[in-house]
Amino acid sequence: MVKYRSIWLNTLVVFMLNACATSPLGRSQLLLMTDSDVDRMGAQAFEVQKKNLPVSDDPRSNQFVQCVAGTLTRQLKGAWEVLVFEEESPNAFALPSGKIGVHTGLLRVARDQNQLAAVIGHEIGHVLAHHSNERISQQYAVQTGLALTEVLAGATVAPGAGQALMGVLGLGAQYGILMPFSRTQESEADLIGLDLMAKSGFDPRESVTFWQNMTAAGGGNPVEFLSTHPSHGTRIQDLEKRMPHAMELWQNARNRGYSTECQQAG
Ligand SMILES: [Zn+2]
Repeated sequence: MVKYRSIWLNTLVVFMLNACATSPLGRSQLLLMTDSDVDRMGAQAFEVQKKNLPVSDDPRSNQFVQCVAGTLTRQLKGAWEVLVFEEESPNAFALPSGKIGVHTGLLRVARDQNQLAAVIGHEIGHVLAHHSNERISQQYAVQTGLALTEVLAGATVAPGAGQALMGVLGLGAQYGILMPFSRTQESEADLIGLDLMAKSGFDPRESVTFWQNMTAAGGGNPVEFLSTHPSHGTRIQDLEKRMPHAMELWQNARNRGYSTECQQAG
């Protein structure tokens, strides 16, 4: 017994040591899942989303979104799939494994290419910082009852499991499972997104305008995006604090000839 227990403990210690990671902004994180497992969950969640929402065939919206998202993802590794969904709620998401979804309703709030780059950059920031893995690890660590093994088990997502999957990946509000990203993760995604948009040639100052538009779009009632992405007083302040750095990145991008001309959907 003692022998088994010590093997188990050694395994656990090695596991926990491997699980300690650092986010792109230098924060320590507990990551219990492998990238390939998280990627598989992301790809599955995207398939669920494709079944739940009609994909837009409006050429102008598609061109606009593909142009902005493509300009951002050119700075990143791997292939990214980008889809526009016919859905009125102003929302966007990015999933591990390189998937991006934008609701048509968001195009009424993100009024130009820079603002759309701000929100897509923010969502990509969550992916780059492994926030889904961190959320899953935290959930798993406290044993809240999500049948993680079930979610991971099948190539096909069972009814119900799909909703749990969406919840844990941050798309939960529309399915009644609200598991918002933490305030720390939100701030991190804001700053990673700000740098990414600036490096890609988008005007980083428009990120502030975007969050103001988003708040106004709620008209007193927080829109879904803000309910899953909790707004806080320091968000704009934090963006402004990092703005000088972002402006430098933007200037460098422009000096290298990066210019962005994505025509908005109208
Ligand atoms: Zn967010």
